[in-house]
This record gives sequence, C-alpha cells and structure tokens, in this order.
Amino acid sequence: MKLYVSVQTEAQLQVALQSTASRALVPLQLLDKIPQHERERVVITLPWLFEANVNKVKATLGQARSLGFSRLLADNLAHFAVAKEFDLTLHGSHRLNITNSVSLGAYSDMGLTDTVLSAEMLAAQMRDVTGDIATGYISYGRLPLMTLRRCPKSGGSPCSPPKANCRAFMKERDGRRLPLICDGHAVYLLNAAPLWLFDKAKDFSRMSFDLVVFTTETGEEAERVLAARRKHDKPSEQTAFTRGLYFKGVK
Ligand SMILES: [Zn+2]
Repeated sequence: MKLYVSVQTEAQLQVALQSTASRALVPLQLLDKIPQHERERVVITLPWLFEANVNKVKATLGQARSLGFSRLLADNLAHFAVAKEFDLTLHGSHRLNITNSVSLGAYSDMGLTDTVLSAEMLAAQMRDVTGDIATGYISYGRLPLMTLRRCPKSGGSPCSPPKANCRAFMKERDGRRLPLICDGHAVYLLNAAPLWLFDKAKDFSRMSFDLVVFTTETGEEAERVLAARRKHDKPSEQTAFTRGLYFKGVK
C-alpha cells in the first residue's frame, strides 16, 4: 500500500520527506522548505478560499508553479478551476465526499488523477467504489469537526504562520480537549482523538494508498506514528483514538 502524508508544520514536513511517502501534502506557506529534488512528490494544499484572499493565494500558487511544484489537492470545485489556470495535476481530498463509482467517474472526467474517498463510509462500502483512478483512505489523523473565521485564543483573525498552530484548544463538557489549528486564513477545530486504523489495514487491502494526516503532532510523535503504521500496530492503551465511521457506518 502506498503512503501519502499530510503535514501542517515544518517538523512534520521533515518526517514526511524522510519517509517512504510517495506523496506529501503540504500547505502553501511551507513550500520554501522543500529542496528542488523533492518537489515532484509534493501536493500543494490551499487554505480556505474567500473573496478577500483568493488573489493573494493565487499569486503565491503561481510562484510555486514557476519553481516546479505541479500538484494540487482538490477540496472543492474552486480548486478544479485553479488547477486549470496553473496547469496543475489534481489529487482529490476526502472533502470531495466521494462515496460511489458514479461520483468517482465524474470527478475523474474533470481531471482528478487519484482521490481519498469520503471518511463517512464503511470500509466494506469503500471496496465497492471502483473506477479509472486510484483511491485511498485516511488511516490516521485528527479530522476537522468545524471551520471557524476567528481564533478563540486571540479573539481576532486566525493566527498566522510560523506560529500557525497557536496551541489553543476548546474543552468538551467531559474534559476532552479539541485542538485548534490556525493557518492565517481560517481556524480548524479538530477531533479530540485521532482516527487510528493501522491495525485494520487488511480491511482496506483493495485500495491503492492510505493517507496519514498530521495536525498537532511534534516531529518525534510523527515519527512514532509512521513506525506504528509500518508494524500495523494497534493503538496503545494510553492512546485515546477513534475508528471514525469506517466500521460503524452512518445510522
Ligand atoms: Zn490562533
């Protein structure tokens, strides 16, 4: 199974580049940390696009294109238009919410070259989604619960890189901490526990790749996560984790 890794910080990026990952999903603001010979592996991820930031984001993307970056993660239809404008290869994110072969075929016709399927499916349902392009699933990571326009910590606009992760969190009534990530454009409220499916890899054996999503992990934690993936480890008893909906399904 091929490995894709999504990162938020420079430390996570270094771990991803040193790993066997065939693709590294990297935010626009970290691209200047990537040596030339690694650029082919990189899939650029864009911040949330608003009318107010779209021109600035496109200008930065144009610079990245001229440096040799050629791949873009598609979260929504705007990214298909942007990819066409800059002649970028498109990779689909779980946010496209592809749950069937009809949808997969339509997105493939629009230029998608591979995609993560919806995170709201059963593992068994994923096996039935087939088409011309490779499909993958999220095997690890804290998934966003909600996107906010203001940072609850600063009380104002989202904190900007390099302190993109302002280390703020919200507390559930039961005391669990929901981390927040600011990317300079929006704030993402994350699940308290990461999804963990390394020990369930055989249920996904028909898929082409799995995506490991790093959010709040330090570089050392990210290394430990990739080591656990190699060994198909179960989550440790101390680790709070979730299986997502892959096995429960939607009721
Ligand atoms: Zn913040």
